[in-house]
Amino acid sequence: MYSQGGFLAAGSEPFPIYAATRPLYEQLLRRRVSKLDGVQLRGNCAFLNYLTDDGATRVNGVVIRDDGSVQELAADMVIDATGRTSRTPNWLQKHGYTPPEIEEVHVDLAYSAILIDRPVDDRRMIGVLAEAPRTRGGAVLPVEDDRWLVNLHGIHLYDFCVSVRTKCMNETPDDIEFLVTSDHRVAVLDTLAASSSDRDGLRAATGASSPTMSRILSDFEDRHWIEREGRTYQLTRLGEFVADRLEEFVDAMTIERRIREVWPWLPHEIEGFDLGPFTDVVVSRPGPGYPYQPVERFTHLLTDTTTMRGFGMVILKSSNLEPFFDHALDELECEYIYPPSIFEKLIAWDRDTVVGAVDRANYTVWLHDNLPLADQCGICLFDDRVSLCCYDHETGTLQTLVDTGSEDIRRWAESYYSQFQAEARPLGDVDSVVLDDSSP
Ligand SMILES: Cc1cc2nc3c(=O)[nH]c(=O)nc-3n(C[C@H](O)[C@H](O)[C@H](O)COP(=O)(O)OP(=O)(O)OC[C@H]3O[C@@H](n4cnc5c(N)ncnc54)[C@H](O)[C@@H]3O)c2cc1C
Repeated sequence: MYSQGGFLAAGSEPFPIYAATRPLYEQLLRRRVSKLDGVQLRGNCAFLNYLTDDGATRVNGVVIRDDGSVQELAADMVIDATGRTSRTPNWLQKHGYTPPEIEEVHVDLAYSAILIDRPVDDRRMIGVLAEAPRTRGGAVLPVEDDRWLVNLHGIHLYDFCVSVRTKCMNETPDDIEFLVTSDHRVAVLDTLAASSSDRDGLRAATGASSPTMSRILSDFEDRHWIEREGRTYQLTRLGEFVADRLEEFVDAMTIERRIREVWPWLPHEIEGFDLGPFTDVVVSRPGPGYPYQPVERFTHLLTDTTTMRGFGMVILKSSNLEPFFDHALDELECEYIYPPSIFEKLIAWDRDTVVGAVDRANYTVWLHDNLPLADQCGICLFDDRVSLCCYDHETGTLQTLVDTGSEDIRRWAESYYSQFQAEARPLGDVDSVVLDDSSP
């Protein structure tokens, strides 16, 4: 035996311990009992009921099913030894008797066991039993058929196991399902989150019928989510917690729903890109019948702003470029970091307009040779929104324009803008940007 950091000393006399598996132990017990006078064993025999006198005041025998046939067996005394599945407590209750009180003691021990082969003559038993403050232990017991029974055990696991099982398997998913599968339950929670209300007010706000409302209120009361003062219901702090978290979850799923379809085109590869701050999002996509939505949205963003900073791909459509350069030739304060190949395309689109704009103090052009995702993403910071313009880099087609008012996304975009601007070079002479037909 090992305890408190060392093996226990051997005693002056050996201390024999009989170790056996339970099937062996039960088999030997059965064999011994069967040899007693007056004992008859009946295999495959099930107790069905008690035989009693008319008033059920005395048990006279049992009804059994023995090898398939139901029989009555008279007896002077009947002992119930059917263990935990005993029907006697129910029988007593049914016949007007008080069933015995149930007393439960949680032993709070759990173990796993396995049989492994053992050398025939090796009968050592090894024990490192759980003892305070150590809650885990193990034992190796020599049993029949040249095997060791290896046991690993732990105490004080009950609360842990119950909480894990509860959380993982049962109640949490049930409660989520309970809530989100009913619009009325969610609406009652939302309504009470806004202000307390009586039944009529809740019915008017949610459209739930009277029986439905009764069920919902009773379910919520059972869960301690609501409490009543007179005729008025209000959320408890537990209910407020549920309502707040549900709102956050619904908001998150709303964002997820908008972002899901354009997810393949978003610049996840850029470090720090995160969905969390994607609040206040507008997603514009070219539809099958109407491909202009992103272009129109971009035009709206750039004509609605007084400042613009950006880097990477730009929408090279006249319907965008014309309003952009009109604005740049007017009052838009604009700084943009272009990949050289993209700036070449601008010059190719309308050299005079571009040259006219870059000569102005309010339009500053930078060139950067190694912008990440240069052929598939352009990011613009407007007065109060940030846009991500996303392309399929293989086909060059515009896939989506996503814009957001999120301050976190703005900070993320601004940090990249500052980094790229520090790496970029000023445009200098427009004609120094070589027009190259092979550029993408
Ligand atoms: C996994 C496990 C490990 C355990 N380890 C230990 C341990 O190491 N040490 C220890 O002391 N205790 C241990 N126990 C507890 C111990 O097994 C029980 O306390 C003990 O077996 C109870 O004995 P019993 O005779 O009351 O009931 P049981 O042993 O359960 O016997 C009841 C018998 O009645 C039979 N029966 C039930 N209904 C009917 C019916 N209608 N008709 C006919 N027959 C019926 C059952 O088939 C069963 O054979 C363990 C229990 C479990 C489950």
